[in-house]
Amino acid sequence: MKLSARLQQICDQLLPGCRFADIGSDHAMLPVAAILSGQADSAVAGEVNEGPFEAAKRQVAQSGLNSKISVRKGNGLEVIEPGEVEVITIAGMGGALIVSILSQGVAKLDGVRRLVLQPNVGEDLVRRWLLDQNWYLSAEHILEEDGKIYEILTADRRDDAALLNRELYQERIIPGCSQVLNQERLLLMGPRLSESPAQVFFDKWDSEISKLMKVRSQIAKSDLEASRAKEEEMRAQIEAWKEVLSCMQKARP
Ligand code: SAM
Repeated sequence: MKLSARLQQICDQLLPGCRFADIGSDHAMLPVAAILSGQADSAVAGEVNEGPFEAAKRQVAQSGLNSKISVRKGNGLEVIEPGEVEVITIAGMGGALIVSILSQGVAKLDGVRRLVLQPNVGEDLVRRWLLDQNWYLSAEHILEEDGKIYEILTADRRDDAALLNRELYQERIIPGCSQVLNQERLLLMGPRLSESPAQVFFDKWDSEISKLMKVRSQIAKSDLEASRAKEEEMRAQIEAWKEVLSCMQKARP
């Protein structure tokens, strides 16, 4: 089975031979491909909605994997027992939903060694949750597919996670820049993605800045006094982001 580049990157992050749960599995493509390729040993495909749940059951049955993949209907992590899986993947949802699934199911994370998370938006919310909960952000990937840019965050449970994360999120100087990469910026941009930024990283941030500029021009149309202050705040914010990105571009090898 050929996965999309996004799902393949997530699959590559699984611990070899693991038992994993794919929460919000939809078509169950990821568990099916992971088992067929030998990357994982067994899986739980969790789905809260009836249509995707039925699609997942069909896909697993057609692939002859009923003994390896358990398709379960339920909300978030309620479909797994503590200690049942070593890895959890949650992909293709907003960051706020991913955080809410993890927070509500925190008791089910016992025995889980790795989380592979792909928020469609709100990546900073996911990074902040991982940091607060002492999950070490061991890898970050960014890729473009079908005109969309995706970030994939891999986090590991480690005794020294707090120490490692402290180093990872330490404030950084950008050569020739009056701005610094502080923790807030690193949560937004990704501490690893911003270490050796690829072109797609700059494409993403160009697009984010364009969105901010559109919001600013909307605010500029308002006659309210409060809007002037907001517009000025946004202007400064946009200028700072532009400087950060320009310096990061220049610092590229
Ligand atoms: N994970 C697949 C992927 O990345 O291609 C499917 C992504 S699809 C856009 C999101 C799926 O998550 C939908 O099938 C939806 O029904 C499911 N979902 C949303 N909230 C959920 C929750 N709280 N628990 C389980 N599944 C959920």
